[in-house]
Amino acid sequence: MNTADVVIVGGGFAGAATAFHLARRGAGKIVLLEREAIPGKHASGRNAALGFTSIDEPEVAALAREGLAFIRGEASELAGHVIFRPSGSLLVASAHETAARLRAQAEAQRDQGLAWWSADEIVAAVPVLRDARLLGGVWSAGDGVVDIHALLQVYLHGARAAGAVVRYRAAVTAVDCHGERVVAVHSTNESWSCGALVNAAGAWAGQVARLVGTRSFELEPRRRHLFLGRPRAAVDRNWPFVWHADVDTYFRPEADALLLSPCDATPHPPVEPVTDEEAKLLLAEKLAAAFPQLADVNIVSGWACLRTFAPDEQFVIGPDPEVAGLFWVAGLGGHGMTTSYAVGRLAAAAVLGENAGELAHFSPCRFLERRDGSVTSAAFRQ
Ligand SMILES: Cc1cc2nc3c(=O)[nH]c(=O)nc-3n(C[C@H](O)[C@H](O)[C@H](O)COP(=O)(O)OP(=O)(O)OC[C@H]3O[C@@H](n4cnc5c(N)ncnc54)[C@H](O)[C@@H]3O)c2cc1C
Repeated sequence: MNTADVVIVGGGFAGAATAFHLARRGAGKIVLLEREAIPGKHASGRNAALGFTSIDEPEVAALAREGLAFIRGEASELAGHVIFRPSGSLLVASAHETAARLRAQAEAQRDQGLAWWSADEIVAAVPVLRDARLLGGVWSAGDGVVDIHALLQVYLHGARAAGAVVRYRAAVTAVDCHGERVVAVHSTNESWSCGALVNAAGAWAGQVARLVGTRSFELEPRRRHLFLGRPRAAVDRNWPFVWHADVDTYFRPEADALLLSPCDATPHPPVEPVTDEEAKLLLAEKLAAAFPQLADVNIVSGWACLRTFAPDEQFVIGPDPEVAGLFWVAGLGGHGMTTSYAVGRLAAAAVLGENAGELAHFSPCRFLERRDGSVTSAAFRQ
């Protein structure tokens, strides 16, 4: 049996960023186990690559701003090239109620770089929105497109450079507990005795929790499609990312084409999803309603991937309320890439027993509190 201080299950953004912070902080022997032969085979390598901070939950928006600052700065230095294209983003509205809410959000976060744009300002920046009957939108100048594979490698290289061990083709298949404490982890090829296990298995985090024997709460993976398409109108590579808040669909330039999503959110078992033709029809319907000039887009390729949510759709970061030595970094939904640096920092702090205040909002203990109406002392066991 090998020995580790911390074993991390999953080499997506959640696990890689946690390994990066733990290793850099000298938290002992860190081992990351990834089931696939390459990193980023699932959500972390197949998302829309939007560094997006126009988020209405303040706790998540703060993590996104911290994450994007890292991507623009230190991550680009570590990668050896700029891994961020500052396109800006527009969250647009056509309903009065939505416009009022977004306008209030823009005003409240003016000092964070958000601004309210009129429909005329939006059409001047993105002429293809001329027929969209918009009332306005939130402009976020600091947002942009991230080289997600480079970012994932920044975390994995950084973790290895600081002494972490990263194993691929290493599926975690069993976890040993002594009493209610994690003591060892078994993968397809090796076994590790450990003091802490970090569950960063994305859509499979529920399965890993069952290996440990904890059932504090259920996570729900939801399938979402992305398509690459060419509209008849010419695409300007400098357009921002545009999300229609009322119709719920988005696009951004990808070279001479557009990356588009129908923003589907179909509950799906934790298996790699296949592309569903229905999603293409949904996209066509939504484009006709939201962005009529893009309704004739010719779809050239597409893929589907899983976003994973906790019951209250908030991130889950921190110690498990029932099993000592088990830590969660899961349920990152649709913001796990942008926020990854901050999520990894918080997860590392949780493993090191720090920062209880900042972690409270994301703690898995909230599910236990809701079940029996009080916090059990087990919630604070390390
Ligand atoms: C279509 C789509 C678009 C998105 N767009 C954006 C965006 O524009 N901006 C943004 O910030 N976020 C976006 N997201 C969200 C973001 O991609 C996710 O929040 C993030 O990638 C989740 O990272 P993760 O590490 O939790 O999960 P994953 O990337 O799924 O990583 C989990 C890893 O765990 C491994 N694993 C599972 N079980 C085991 C096991 N038993 N043993 C070993 N390894 C195991 C898996 O192989 C996998 O590699 C999008 C998501 C989707 C699906």
